[in-house]
Amino acid sequence: MATQIQTVTGPATPDELGRTLMHEHVLIGFPGWEADTIRPGATRDEMRAVCRDRIDGMREHGVATMIDPCPNDLGRDVEFMADISARTGFRIVCATGLYNQASGGAAYWHMRGHGETSVSAMAELFEKELGDGIGETGIRAGIIKVATGRGGVTDYERDVLTAAARASVATGAPITTHTDEGTLGDVQQQILTSNGVPPHRIVIGHSCGTSDHDYHMGLVRGGSYVGFDRFGLDMLHPDAERVKSLLRLLQAGAGSAVVVSHDTVWCWRGDPLPPDSKFNAATAWTPTHFFEHIVPQLREGGASEAQIERLLVDNPRAFFAGEAPSLG
Ligand SMILES: [Zn+2]
Repeated sequence: MATQIQTVTGPATPDELGRTLMHEHVLIGFPGWEADTIRPGATRDEMRAVCRDRIDGMREHGVATMIDPCPNDLGRDVEFMADISARTGFRIVCATGLYNQASGGAAYWHMRGHGETSVSAMAELFEKELGDGIGETGIRAGIIKVATGRGGVTDYERDVLTAAARASVATGAPITTHTDEGTLGDVQQQILTSNGVPPHRIVIGHSCGTSDHDYHMGLVRGGSYVGFDRFGLDMLHPDAERVKSLLRLLQAGAGSAVVVSHDTVWCWRGDPLPPDSKFNAATAWTPTHFFEHIVPQLREGGASEAQIERLLVDNPRAFFAGEAPSLG
């Protein structure tokens, strides 16, 4: 039986995914947005128009599917995702999971204490959302999201990673991660695999936040996929560096282990970002940037059409099908 992937509008098979962007966001709200009651943000109709525009653009480049790995505590709205998906026919996979300690909703869990009490409560939540649906919506998550911050993995983040591993082992769902500036992916891999998750069920996200080739190869040799999923966020790490690092991985025979995306955010809960926000300065931060500006640079650097297509189609398919990347 073919592996089933849960999308926000129902199950799909890995072969149906087509060109897939592995990390984009319809809507994000950092915890605290709900307290800003005088700035409710865009209306649903306004947000729908933005999403339709982004999806039309992606479709012009043949993209058929995206993963929106918004964790539970960053303003996730799976009914909105399902509404957009149903209106456009564009496939979206949503996530269950929790963000890092510095920027997520850790305060809620701190009140319950760390360790097994938290881990089992989190694992129960993730498993419910993967197997049965999110709240009363009936919409099932298709992937688990975990995250770490800077400097080291906190006790809270370790609890989330441990719970995610437990839920992944129990349900077979894959895991995608957030790393800050391409750090601690190796520790994430170690925690998840030591808790029973096969390494090829993991995408170590935002790995393009560093140009450290040994770090990238360590993750790949450890058997995981690496996300080059922040193209366009030039002010966090230059695109030219991301391209160079990706070409190096292709040359090293690691092309089957890389997935690509932009980590774009289409709508924000609460007040829109101020005009001088560094994110507003990133004019190339769109979900078509890879096709318009990065693909030509990859070609220029010697990547073949087959290598580029593999990043977009074969690797997401293989990841969801539970296949390990083949090196060399
Ligand atoms: Zn993201």
